[in-house]
Amino acid sequence: MATYNMSPVDERLNGRFEMRRAGLIILVVTMLIFVGSANAQTKLSPKWEELTAGDFRDAIARAQGTCLLPFGILEKHGPHMPLGTDLLNVRYVAEHAAQQEYVVIFPEYYFGQIFEARHEPGTVAYSTELQLKLLQETTDEMARNGCKKVIIVNGHGGNENLLPFFAQTQLQKRHDYVLYVQWGHDPTKKVVTQKPGPDWHAGQSETSNMLITHPDLVHLDRANSESGADENRVHLPENVYTAIWWYARFPNHYSGDGSAATKGQGEADVQGWTNAVVHCIQAVKADNESMKLQNEFYDKAEKPLEIKP
Ligand SMILES: [Zn+2]
Repeated sequence: MATYNMSPVDERLNGRFEMRRAGLIILVVTMLIFVGSANAQTKLSPKWEELTAGDFRDAIARAQGTCLLPFGILEKHGPHMPLGTDLLNVRYVAEHAAQQEYVVIFPEYYFGQIFEARHEPGTVAYSTELQLKLLQETTDEMARNGCKKVIIVNGHGGNENLLPFFAQTQLQKRHDYVLYVQWGHDPTKKVVTQKPGPDWHAGQSETSNMLITHPDLVHLDRANSESGADENRVHLPENVYTAIWWYARFPNHYSGDGSAATKGQGEADVQGWTNAVVHCIQAVKADNESMKLQNEFYDKAEKPLEIKP
């Protein structure tokens, strides 16, 4: 076996090579750090809970002070879907909307109106006082942290009375932020439900959405193990309201037929919902009037007699 001894020339060459290699390593590391930090900047998470305190400041600036509060609930969703269906769906939509139009998204929120499902296992129904107080303190805290435009994205039908009322109470006293409620959308293409009658809760439409957002949590084979038919047991004129109406019609807290769900229908609806939220975020970012008029209103409301007609 041949042995090789370094000559002084070899050693000098070897030293120069080592130096050049070290230089190259430093250059590559510097480039990686630079690319990494640029990446971290462009990939700022929209989720409040995933941001560092420093990144949170950048996120609020990038969102122009616009934040989403996706509002879900914990309630039975037929015999075939999880209790958190509304929360899971609304968060899926909010996160996809934020990819198109950047906003900061508040963490999981499910403290809404759901008294009508208290007879079903797994329902969490906070008192009226707590619902209002917690929602107010949540949006106040969001605003204190720079969210001067708070959009509640509603994912739960039972909030239909709570949210307009809550929004209206914002005129009770001065706020340094504007509260918006987003609710409602059209699917990108209309799909006719297969069964006649209402399809309002855990039925074909909502189950289709879950087939897109969380297919692994849907048990389609169980969807027919209970009835979602309209039992229509109270007969009153349409313009008379009573709280037990829902239980009177859908005692299983199930309305429609989840077994008829399809991915195609879910795709059209989730896409339409996402588009509606993106459109809402863009409109809210562009809205400079509401805050101005709110301030003008609070000024007048504090001294109504001083305002000349
Ligand atoms: Zn639901």
